[in-house]
Amino acid sequence: MVVAVEYISKEESADAETAKHGVTGILAVQGAFAEHAAMLDKLGAQWKLLRAAEDFDDSIDRVILPGGESTTQGKLLRSTGLFAPIAAGKPVFGTCAGMILLAKRLENDDNVYFGALDATVRRNAYGRQLGSFVSTADFGDIKDFPLVFIRGPFVSDVGADATIETEVDGRVVGLRQGNILATAFHPELTDDTRIHVIFEPVGSR
Ligand code: GLN
Repeated sequence: MVVAVEYISKEESADAETAKHGVTGILAVQGAFAEHAAMLDKLGAQWKLLRAAEDFDDSIDRVILPGGESTTQGKLLRSTGLFAPIAAGKPVFGTCAGMILLAKRLENDDNVYFGALDATVRRNAYGRQLGSFVSTADFGDIKDFPLVFIRGPFVSDVGADATIETEVDGRVVGLRQGNILATAFHPELTDDTRIHVIFEPVGSR
């Protein structure tokens, strides 16, 4: 596992401050945002933490929603004013709590946040004992990706607009829909950058 404590004191990658575009905004109101920043540094991708509405400037081309606690993140998205710019539809990659925030339907929660991903997601779906575990499966064309689950959700129903990318033990845990990627697991807690690479086509923008 990558523990990226040093990134917590960094607000953006070295060259992001002056960038006009091509920067990934990482929602940083709560949760495992520092680990995503560490992944993007490994790729040489530009990033900036999103803590307040004014952080979402014209340089932001896509958004990462990290793991954490979705109810808390949902409240902070509203109070910071970050909800509207993220909801406007830039490419987005949600991990764990981020997948919950993206879903159109939540099975065991009355809230719906971005309501963008055509799926029904069950929070804390693996129960207390099995809440955290490690496994391996494919993500689309990516073979044998290490999957780290921390009290994660799974997808209990996939709508027609979404494509299944990852299944473990018959449970859907990775989806793609247009410019949305969503995983119930935490690629940012591994040293495998392949899913982040799909989201960050460095050099092609
Ligand atoms: N259980 C958390 C929630 O429902 C998600 C867990 C995570 O992001 N690691 O918000």
